[in-house]
Amino acid sequence: MAHKSVVLNLSVTTAAKGHNCRHNKSHRIGKGARRLTIKVERNQHHYCLTCAKIILEKGILKLQHIQTEVESI
Ligand SMILES: [Zn+2]
Repeated sequence: MAHKSVVLNLSVTTAAKGHNCRHNKSHRIGKGARRLTIKVERNQHHYCLTCAKIILEKGILKLQHIQTEVESI
């Protein structure tokens, strides 16, 4: 059995049509643009690449903190 992934719900997708960024409605994601998609239960939240960078940086920091904590037990 494969190990469970903590980033299973995360992917980069392409917008089939233009829409606003989930985090900030003034961020426009144009048709065909790459975006970060996070699955939340049965929904998908889409973020522009500017927000994606911040979300990923925070996520990586959190993973590093948890990794440090787990290794110290
Ligand atoms: Zn955004």
